[in-house]
Amino acid sequence: MNDSQKIIIAIDGFSGCGKSTTAKEVAKALNYIYIDTGAMYRAVTLYFYRHKVDTRNTTAIQMALQNIEIRFEYEAATQKNITILNEEVVEDEIRQMYISERVSAVSALPEVREAMVAQQRQMGINKGIVMDGRDIGTNVFPNAELKIFMQAQVQVRAVRRQKELQAKGQEVDLQEIADNLSQRDHLDSTRTENPLRQAEDAHVIDTTQLTIEQQSQKIIQLAVTLQNV
Ligand code: C5P
Repeated sequence: MNDSQKIIIAIDGFSGCGKSTTAKEVAKALNYIYIDTGAMYRAVTLYFYRHKVDTRNTTAIQMALQNIEIRFEYEAATQKNITILNEEVVEDEIRQMYISERVSAVSALPEVREAMVAQQRQMGINKGIVMDGRDIGTNVFPNAELKIFMQAQVQVRAVRRQKELQAKGQEVDLQEIADNLSQRDHLDSTRTENPLRQAEDAHVIDTTQLTIEQQSQKIIQLAVTLQNV
């Protein structure tokens, strides 16, 4: 396949549906770049938290955003894309519950969205990208060749998330996780700026009964068909 056949794959959906894990698998299979936009909003949230940025003050938000540089780096040893905030590896810190509890409020700020969306569009300029988030198919890349919308029952999502956290040595109560997922779904779907919603031309995948392998294969098959057009 030559580069001109590469497409943009936008994966949106509710929190904890396995978007990131699936997106990573799809990117690996197609030799595409994977971008986790949730990690970008989480990194901004970490910076705002540490620097006590007053989120009611537009000037303070804008000044803070000018001091934030987020990038991703591939770590060969773990075969993972890691998030770097101002040259500090923050990959684990941004997955902590105190960030999950604050990220939806920070990501609803128009200035934050504007800055992140501009960077995300730049990252997709050469296509060959799998990007996951909440507004990728509706706002960041409304012309993406392939749009996926993922959903799953909240209890199933909470159990999966708890296992992920346990694997990293974090013990978090199941109900606390389920509440956080529901609360983020609500805030993300009802905010004014680029709310989470299904694009009209998105393929809906319910992952309640699917394994990562199954959901990745569905997307890879769709992508391969489109690449060959
Ligand atoms: O994908 P993840 O669950 O890590 O995203 C964390 C949060 O970042 C979401 O709950 C949402 O508030 C925000 N987000 C967003 N737009 C995106 C990606 C994530 O608002 N494109």
